[in-house]
Amino acid sequence: MQQNSHQVIIVGGGHNGLVAACYLAKAGVKTLILEAGSKVGGATVSQKVFKDYDARLSRYSYLVSLLPDQIVRELGLKFETIKRDVASFTPSKLADKEIGLLITTGLVGQTQADFEELTGSNDEFMAWQEFYKDVQKLAEVIAPTMLEKLPTRSELREKVNHKIWDEIMEQPIGRSIEARFKNDLVRGIVLTDGLIGTHTDAHDMPANICFLYHLIGNGEGDWKVPKGGMGALVKELTDLAISLGVEIKTESRVLNIVESNNSYSVTTNSSGTYNSEFVLANCAPQVLAKILGHSEPKSLEGSQVKINMLLKKLPRLKSGQDPRDAFAGTFHFDENYSQLQLAFKQSADGKIPDQIPAEMYCHTLSDTSILSEELVVKGFQTLTLFGLHTPAALFDKDNEGTKQEIKRRLLAQLNQYLLDPIEECLAVAEDGSLCIEVKSPLDLQRDVDLPRGNIFHKDLSMPFREDGTKPSWGVETEYEKIFICGAGAIRGGGVSGIPGHNAAMAVLERL
Ligand SMILES: Cc1cc2nc3c(=O)[nH]c(=O)nc-3n(C[C@H](O)[C@H](O)[C@H](O)COP(=O)(O)OP(=O)(O)OC[C@H]3O[C@@H](n4cnc5c(N)ncnc54)[C@H](O)[C@@H]3O)c2cc1C
Repeated sequence: MQQNSHQVIIVGGGHNGLVAACYLAKAGVKTLILEAGSKVGGATVSQKVFKDYDARLSRYSYLVSLLPDQIVRELGLKFETIKRDVASFTPSKLADKEIGLLITTGLVGQTQADFEELTGSNDEFMAWQEFYKDVQKLAEVIAPTMLEKLPTRSELREKVNHKIWDEIMEQPIGRSIEARFKNDLVRGIVLTDGLIGTHTDAHDMPANICFLYHLIGNGEGDWKVPKGGMGALVKELTDLAISLGVEIKTESRVLNIVESNNSYSVTTNSSGTYNSEFVLANCAPQVLAKILGHSEPKSLEGSQVKINMLLKKLPRLKSGQDPRDAFAGTFHFDENYSQLQLAFKQSADGKIPDQIPAEMYCHTLSDTSILSEELVVKGFQTLTLFGLHTPAALFDKDNEGTKQEIKRRLLAQLNQYLLDPIEECLAVAEDGSLCIEVKSPLDLQRDVDLPRGNIFHKDLSMPFREDGTKPSWGVETEYEKIFICGAGAIRGGGVSGIPGHNAAMAVLERL
């Protein structure tokens, strides 16, 4: 084989490209990764965001649920995730009283009493338990199929054999939530899993698919803290790939792919042209289409802001909840069901929502290893905030100005629930600026090539194929030997390695 010839070229070195490369190289396949950026990792990286402080934040993705234990085991990755005792905390007001709903992972401790205080009875707590017990039935059936060829719709439905199938897979999730729950805040907490990175009304099916992916990880749906930050996963995968002989070329943006004589000729902007029998696209399908000279597939655009913060101390809460509990899990604010619906409508009409629904979590309450010793001793903490319903179109005219306005609104909204204004808690850089950065969908396109900032590359899909369609790994394209190995595949999206694994299996099957 010539020097520039490989059996497989992978376009993009995100975590999925690395997973695919590891599986292929383990099977003895000569593999080359061409990555546009100066480092691998894509949206799964840890970075020193504030130059005066040694804190390595998970700059984009931050929690792990979808990565199957099977991949960690099969690749022998020394990557750990930490289970959190607190699932979420949501501050609220009852008449003039500041209250909150703390949901612990096993629904133990104060959870039931908080439900009762908020809703006036035990009904919503019971409804919560029953709903998630039913959702679990879906997760237990679907999770084990994620690293196999796609099951058909009927095969999955028969295995689930429960009304939850219709509630989540067939009818709008908004209808199911409205039937199961009465309280606006409780309904909102349930719906948020359908809206992460997905700009949709509760009554449109994209919310169902997004909800499903947030609840099925490893058959349990727990969102865990990556020990050492997201970069720890990519470091493990990179070290393994290199040790298995994978060649990785960074600063090599693929510009086009041409098919000739049963192989592909792949041209980059810097390091030349390479040939291979197979191509795996870890870049988004929209990017692949451009490279192949086709028109881009349609997709929803990204609809979130990500705000990274470094704090000298955690703020105290007006409700009196211990901040070490409130911020350990997901801290929801202004995410009542009616607020989510209104924010969607306003943003779809081209306006920044009056109240931007948002959620945050503190990594360092579970894992201080992302901070230097000195910052740990001083009690520094990190907060990562995800603001919903802020679609890319809002930023087109004035990216910086819109980011500033959204930051101003979000901090003011947050301060309504805090005794210590967040600005007083933020670390201060040597030049006097506060340690806070905002990433808009346009920034995500610029920094990590996410089309219009879509965190899942393109719209998520249900994890099955329709009855009567051809067997598939969910990674195929119209080209016989080009596969999607990134988030844009069926069952891609999120930090999972699943499309990387499945694309590698599709290649191995054909070799
Ligand atoms: C702000 C944010 C928060 C998120 N939070 C979470 C979370 O907490 N948990 C979770 O599970 N998921 C989360 N996600 C989603 C998750 O990060 C992505 O779905 C996941 O990173 C996709 O991985 P990937 O390897 O498929 O693609 P990517 O990470 O997008 O990597 C693709 C790689 O391809 C490269 N590339 C693109 N075009 C070319 C080209 N022409 N030539 C060469 N290289 C190219 C890019 O530079 C990039 O390195 C989040 C995403 C964002 C942006």
